Amino acid sequence: MRIDLHTHSNISDGTDSPQELITAAAAAGLDVIGLADHDTFDGIEIAREQADIEGIELVAGIEISAQYQGTSVHLLGYGCDQEDAPLLAELARIREARDNRVPRICEKLTELGLPLTVSQVQAQARNATSLGRPHVADAMIAAGYVADRQEAFDRYLQGPARVRRYQVELTQGIELIHQAGGAAVIAHPWGRSAKEVLSAAALAALVAETGLEGIEIEHQDHDELARRQLRRLAIELGLIATGASDYHGRGKKNHELGCNLTSPEAYRELQQRMTARAEARKAWRR
Ligand code: AMP
Ligand code: ZN
Ligand code: FE
Ligand code: FE
Repeated sequence: MRIDLHTHSNISDGTDSPQELITAAAAAGLDVIGLADHDTFDGIEIAREQADIEGIELVAGIEISAQYQGTSVHLLGYGCDQEDAPLLAELARIREARDNRVPRICEKLTELGLPLTVSQVQAQARNATSLGRPHVADAMIAAGYVADRQEAFDRYLQGPARVRRYQVELTQGIELIHQAGGAAVIAHPWGRSAKEVLSAAALAALVAETGLEGIEIEHQDHDELARRQLRRLAIELGLIATGASDYHGRGKKNHELGCNLTSPEAYRELQQRMTARAEARKAWRR
């Protein structure tokens, strides 16, 4: 069983449409694929239809922009009710902050001598309902300012053209996923900035306080040492260890579909936890 639980479509900042993503996943020999677009469920329905056609199993996911102790942390939710009002309201708030950030980034870039307009960014975003810096990067590529997304991030979007935006508190994000009947997994906990705040002690406290289900361990942002340490930590804390490509189509190099996988055992456990959360939600609403 080949299980890849975290991928993106062009409904957020991937480059494949949901249909193309599922077709590519089937061609890559995946049995199970999780679509986890940033802060939106808008790709799930189309992906589900295509998954039925291809005979591949789709896990409905989402990657929520959260923060912990002021630092950006990505939170994966699996199996949430996609109609859940409190969750949808929070996602709308985050997407609004995403939209509002774009003109501010454009202003900064323009001040830096790289004039860019919101409509140039929107032209790149096409089907996306969740606007991200990668779309700004694509507009910069189209304008001839940088060669690729990586260069846009390294030279500008993580540097002089960085603009902060609203993100939900991590514990609140986990609670929102749970009350929507889903299971919560922290994405690439030791990738990029999150490593500074997500110590072993912090993860232990999160498990105790929120009932966090898992952490994504097999991920390109984690080197072999980080993976070894995280695997040990997951066993100690009773966390489900997932793995995924974090595929963004042509938008991210070295993140090919299936480059990291979740074990069938971990996936079964995740499914059990998703079922338990969904049942708890039903009982609560009765
Ligand atoms: P945003 O969601 O607007 O905060 O932008 C973050 C997204 O940009 C994440 O999904 C990352 O996958 C992507 N990203 C972050 N750094 C880079 C990079 N150096 N090159 C390409 N994509 C990146
Ligand atoms: Zn992304
Ligand atoms: Fe992420
Ligand atoms: Fe991601």
